[in-house]
Amino acid sequence: MKKVKIVGAGLAGSEAALQLADNGWQVDLYEMRDKKTTSAHQTHLCAELVCSNSLKSTLLSSASGLLKAELEMMGCKLLPIAKKAAVPAGNALAVDRYLFSEYVHKTIINHPNIKLINEEVTAFDDTLTILATGPLSSDKITQSLIKDIGDNHLYFFDAIAPVVYTDTINMDIVFSKSRYSDDNSDYLNCPFNKDEYLNFVDALIKGEKYEAKEFESEFFNNIEYKFYENCIPIEELARRGVDTLRYGTMRPVGLDDPRTGKRPYALIQLRIENRNKTTYNLVGCQTMLKYGAQKDIFRLIPGLENADFARYGSIHRNTYINTAKVCNENFSLKNRSNIFVAGQLSGVEGYVESIFSGLLVANIINSKLPILPETTIMGQIWRFLTTEHKHFLPINANFGLLPAILDKIGKKEKKLEYSQRALSDLSSFLNSQQRSDHYEF
Ligand SMILES: Cc1cc2nc3c(=O)[nH]c(=O)nc-3n(C[C@H](O)[C@H](O)[C@H](O)COP(=O)(O)OP(=O)(O)OC[C@H]3O[C@@H](n4cnc5c(N)ncnc54)[C@H](O)[C@@H]3O)c2cc1C
Repeated sequence: MKKVKIVGAGLAGSEAALQLADNGWQVDLYEMRDKKTTSAHQTHLCAELVCSNSLKSTLLSSASGLLKAELEMMGCKLLPIAKKAAVPAGNALAVDRYLFSEYVHKTIINHPNIKLINEEVTAFDDTLTILATGPLSSDKITQSLIKDIGDNHLYFFDAIAPVVYTDTINMDIVFSKSRYSDDNSDYLNCPFNKDEYLNFVDALIKGEKYEAKEFESEFFNNIEYKFYENCIPIEELARRGVDTLRYGTMRPVGLDDPRTGKRPYALIQLRIENRNKTTYNLVGCQTMLKYGAQKDIFRLIPGLENADFARYGSIHRNTYINTAKVCNENFSLKNRSNIFVAGQLSGVEGYVESIFSGLLVANIINSKLPILPETTIMGQIWRFLTTEHKHFLPINANFGLLPAILDKIGKKEKKLEYSQRALSDLSSFLNSQQRSDHYEF
């Protein structure tokens, strides 16, 4: 029986393990939690979601929706489990985070071809290995990696959003409504008038922030370069201009307050965190503010004046490598071709992108998968990661990656056209692979 070692039972490692095990491989899956944990994980379960509980949009007019549709065509293992653990979130696929991880964990430990080993891996050997230790890879394995890839290894940081208890939200002020939709059950909305908004922005700018440790100084000196564009701390956005939040995270478009019939000046959305709706996540409020400051400042949000926090936002290190420089096209290390890198560590950004990366690397190992069509998000993420860039930053699904369609049609129609083209090309590609008996699923 073919054998593989996978290090890290996160999103990428769990997907890769299930892909390979279902294809007859004997998988030794190493996970260090809960013997040793990371600064963000809270359980010992496989595929834990460390921040938002949303796997983003399911619409084909969004790149994340297209990526999910592509993954389903490829026989992704984790997405059907996410659907089983779904909670209502409008057009997004959000999950009860505990149920999701529990389902994945059970699927893995009950799989006859997978052995889950609760150990930290600290060094490499000659075994065929998928390294999927994620953005919070343990220090020891990071040091081993640095030995192999040298200076091309980069450090990075990310911020997470606070969560509040539902029974401490003032329902006389917040209203429930999804953007542009009559369905009114999935999101709560905290409406701001102009004075409340300006006061909030001012407090964010003045709030006491996390102090950099010595090893983080490079990050704080170069803040614009180091953040993921879609995970910028709210106080950093506030600092960029008084209206930045009102036109971004806090935009009120499509969310008129049903009690007044008017559009608020700005608003913050709260998204359900679990099936029982006992906690809500403050959408877009990822932050580097100190806990005390968070309590005072987020209580300025209308409707949250008495909110209790189930979790505060925080800042975390994010580790990833410059894949094109240190890896071959198949994601194996140039200096150690038995080690394949997958997940966020390989330079993808996001839950679904990490799942994709696990699926991709597993299938490369399994069947020497030829490069996926260039009209697909998957194909383009692969190309992006394996092409050298002057300033390499992690990549997430976006339509900008795809070859342009030049028709003069509306934005939404064009996005749908990108999706239809991708899915049709992927379908032809998969059919041709099956015919040539080259591609095993
Ligand atoms: C704080 C934070 C918040 C994030 N928030 C979001 C978000 O809201 N939405 C989003 O789309 N993406 C988010 N991301 C980015 C990314 O999507 C997730 O981190 C995702 O879980 C990455 O998947 P992964 O499989 O690469 O890593 P992980 O899911 O982190 O899995 C890696 C696993 O490896 C284990 N491990 C580490 N080192 C070792 C070792 N030496 N030996 C054995 N096991 C080891 C870890 O315990 C972990 O279980 C966030 C990242 C961070 C750090």
